Amino acid sequence: MKRILLIGAGHAHAVVLRSLAENALYGARITLVAPYPRQIYSAMLPGVIAGHYAQREAIIDVARLAERAYVEFVRGSVEEFDAARRSVTLRDGKQIGFDLASLNVGSRVDSSVPGSTHHALAVKPFERFIDLLKIPDRVAIAGAGAAGAELAMALRYAGAAVTLYSEQSGFPPALEKRVTSALRRAGVDFRPGMPVTAVENGPTVIAGSARQSFDLLIWATGAAPWPWLRGSGLALDEKGFVRVKETLRSVSHPEIFAAGDCAALDPKSGVYSVRQGALLVENLRHLVRDEGLQAYQPNPRALLLLSCGARYAIAQRGEWTAQGSWVWYWKDWIDRRWVGSFAAAN
Ligand SMILES: Cc1cc2nc3c(=O)[nH]c(=O)nc-3n(C[C@H](O)[C@H](O)[C@H](O)COP(=O)(O)OP(=O)(O)OC[C@H]3O[C@@H](n4cnc5c(N)ncnc54)[C@H](O)[C@@H]3O)c2cc1C
Repeated sequence: MKRILLIGAGHAHAVVLRSLAENALYGARITLVAPYPRQIYSAMLPGVIAGHYAQREAIIDVARLAERAYVEFVRGSVEEFDAARRSVTLRDGKQIGFDLASLNVGSRVDSSVPGSTHHALAVKPFERFIDLLKIPDRVAIAGAGAAGAELAMALRYAGAAVTLYSEQSGFPPALEKRVTSALRRAGVDFRPGMPVTAVENGPTVIAGSARQSFDLLIWATGAAPWPWLRGSGLALDEKGFVRVKETLRSVSHPEIFAAGDCAALDPKSGVYSVRQGALLVENLRHLVRDEGLQAYQPNPRALLLLSCGARYAIAQRGEWTAQGSWVWYWKDWIDRRWVGSFAAAN
């Protein structure tokens, strides 16, 4: 019997678990390792901050989902991954061996700016972030990608004065105009072209020659890989993400898969991780049955929905963009249906 180890309860593994709960995989003993028994759905996190959702409405109970899928849930955090020995070591020293493993451990925020680790609250892990977040009077956010912009408008809606620092907008031009106007309309002090260069106690934000103190600084910069992947023996890209083939198998170790932010695939977002999860579970089934694997085909026109604090949102698919309160209700319907699908899986 093959031992399959799922590491991390990200979007892709949530899809894997839901599929296994609906249609069990015989011939394998499956274990899931994740630090939290419940996973906050990132797309609803700004809505939790804005007060549109109670936290429990935005949570996927992965431990219960695992139970329904006949998957053993081990609460823990991988600290060492040894691809050659097919074994992981958790923070508490426990070792787990595997025949097949799949990594869906997400990413962390890039904390290379001096002082950012000590004086800023990182947006990931989401569970820690939401536990520690108290809506402050004056908050600064570093990083104006989709996450930073949504958080800025949600915090503004919750009553905070918000300053948003960013190097440059990562949005396509059509969307950038809409997001910039939405930020201005919401009353966010948006400072594009002004990256945070250092952080000091206070927290005091240093952006070039400018200094300003806040009650809280939130770190929401781009995705960075987990440092422990460096010692894994897996082939990584220049940034440190796991290089995979179209089948999501590691290019160096075919018995190891990677999906979501931790894989060297772009773009990185929950939407793409979900799509990879659907393929991943099929490929795990094929492998257990000694069948050929399928290839991942990214959707170049995936739907992006960005909430704007109030019940108002912006949508983009390819060249098409739109905004309005109807977009928010559309997003709300999609997000609730997504979270609800895990509670229903049986
Ligand atoms: C505020 C905000 C809003 C966002 N909104 C959207 C959105 O609307 N749509 C969208 O597509 N994307 C959105 N994103 C981006 C999205 O959150 C990430 O791209 C997505 O979470 C990546 O999913 P993933 O499946 O790779 O892993 P994640 O969903 O991040 O999950 C990673 C999992 O790995 C676990 N883990 C981490 N380290 C370890 C370890 N050492 N050992 C074991 N387990 C570990 C974690 O606990 C977690 O269970 C948003 C991000 C933010 C910050």
